[in-house]
Amino acid sequence: MSTPPPTPTVMINVEDLHKKFGDLEVLKGIDAKVNEREVVCLIGPSGSGKSTLLRCMNRLEDFHRGQVTICGHDLTGSRTSLHAVRRDVGMVFQSFNVFPHMKVIDNLTLAPMKVLKISRTEAKQRAMALLEKVGLVDKAHVYPGKLSGGQQQRVAIARALAMEPKAMLFDEPTSALDPETVGEVLGVMQNLAEEGMTMMVVTHEMGFAREVADRVLFMDNGVVVEQGPPKQIFEQPQHERTQAFLSKIL
Ligand code: ADP
Ligand code: MG
Repeated sequence: MSTPPPTPTVMINVEDLHKKFGDLEVLKGIDAKVNEREVVCLIGPSGSGKSTLLRCMNRLEDFHRGQVTICGHDLTGSRTSLHAVRRDVGMVFQSFNVFPHMKVIDNLTLAPMKVLKISRTEAKQRAMALLEKVGLVDKAHVYPGKLSGGQQQRVAIARALAMEPKAMLFDEPTSALDPETVGEVLGVMQNLAEEGMTMMVVTHEMGFAREVADRVLFMDNGVVVEQGPPKQIFEQPQHERTQAFLSKIL
């Protein structure tokens, strides 16, 4: 008798999520799940609610109906510690959110020292290891303003990783980059995925989604229209809206 495969641990679970801005309902009952070590790419037209969904996942936005559980934190309960959530969930945005007035190394050591209370020496050691991972060891003592967009985004990723998050959320991390630096950022993200990081990635980089994602979710107008393995979504999309979107961008 063969043993059944182990049940995957669900790291992110969104159920019937609704979100309004005033009268405008931008999330209309979203269900989404990300298992441990899984990479899920979220695609869809501008304004479909992708960023809002990601922001609800670490409570940068409130929501008025539904449930979100992430890395063991139930965001539905009002007593959830937002600090604990943000410590466990790393987020990287389209605009490189690095501190411009701090050298790269200090960008990476600040939060671990303050929040995780680790010593400066240890924080620096960890920071250098992370810079190694993102290919920026030689930029440790440079200010972010001296770096290219792709390099700044790699700093932002390393900074998020310095908190040793259990999951990472990426919101169009390469959309603001010069084309020649997109690849280096996607490469870092791909390595991270291969190391087993749990990731949800909003992206227009269909090559990345195709190659790296375990699952692709297509969102339109506040709902998940369709989801499945990348091969299925890109080669045999079931819904007209998915087909229309893909025919425009592929
Ligand atoms: P996407 O990331 O897919 O482009 P968003 O989640 O940014 O979509 O936006 C979804 C909808 O919500 C859009 O119609 C947008 O105008 C609206 N929206 C987003 N943020 C706000 C906000 N803070 N206040 C009002 N409307 C917003
Ligand atoms: Mg967006």
